[in-house]
Amino acid sequence: MEEKIARELICDTGRELLKTGLVARTWGNVSCRLDKSSFLITPSGLDYLKTMPEDIVYVDLSTMEWEGKHKPSSEKGVHAAAYELFDDAGFVIHTHQNCASAIGLAGFDSMDITSAEREALGGVAKAEYGLPGMKKLKNAVKSAMQTGAHTVFMVNHGVVVCGSDKKQAMERVQLLEDICRRNLHLGNAAPKRLSEKKATELISAVRQEIPTAELSGGDAAVMWSGKRKTLHAQLDDMAQMLGSHVPCVRASAKKAVKALSARDAVFVQGVGAIVKADDPDDREALKLLTEKSALCALHTEAMGAKVKLGAVDTALMRFVYKKKYSKRKG
Ligand SMILES: [Zn+2]
Repeated sequence: MEEKIARELICDTGRELLKTGLVARTWGNVSCRLDKSSFLITPSGLDYLKTMPEDIVYVDLSTMEWEGKHKPSSEKGVHAAAYELFDDAGFVIHTHQNCASAIGLAGFDSMDITSAEREALGGVAKAEYGLPGMKKLKNAVKSAMQTGAHTVFMVNHGVVVCGSDKKQAMERVQLLEDICRRNLHLGNAAPKRLSEKKATELISAVRQEIPTAELSGGDAAVMWSGKRKTLHAQLDDMAQMLGSHVPCVRASAKKAVKALSARDAVFVQGVGAIVKADDPDDREALKLLTEKSALCALHTEAMGAKVKLGAVDTALMRFVYKKKYSKRKG
């Protein structure tokens, strides 16, 4: 593959993934094989809309040394595993897509999937948990791929999908999300929303105290809020951005403000979640994250699975995220 074309393909893919909602913000990453011994990958933490061909990073497969203006994605090891194992892998996509993340937490073994779909995905497997960017995660993904699977669920994290080219990899991530969506179990409680008038009053009262507060009122967030239960981090991105848990309070502005004084998100009964952040991009990310976290929590509960990230791992990820974040902002 010619390097110039590969760089452009990666940028196009990032933007397409954003458009389809399969990735958000700077989450996930994309790579393309150049030849037998090298590949190109998206840089770490750069917005897909701002990523230009010259921002893409070159990585040598045998030494893992890289060249570029930016650091490569911290998940480069996961991509490298795919290129090492599969001669037919030409393009690799890693996402934190909603429905597949939920199935990775519960229901993988009992998933309703036809053999034709399995084949279209190039085989499916599940990788054990490892902290993001760590060797353990790379090795776990590698052993899952050693079964021949080109589509791998990364437990508590997301998925990685290999294709012979961009087209096949994109088709696979989309097909995977469709299959996982029909395998979601959200319980049978329909979202019970507060009347629009009451919800608006509540949000404005919260905004009086916290002007950067915003509503995340998707169906999953509203359904979860009806349970009046604390949501514990099940996925790495939630642990990073929201910490170990998000509490749930009654529909009271006072209670919501109190909860938000100690954290960036709270579930509020009948309303969904209320998030706060100074940066509008961060607010958007928190809204997506609270909705995805609620979706996953509803699904695991309906499946009767107790899934919670370990306290030490969660604290570590939160710490690293905050440190990186303050550096970036600085
Ligand atoms: Zn990831």
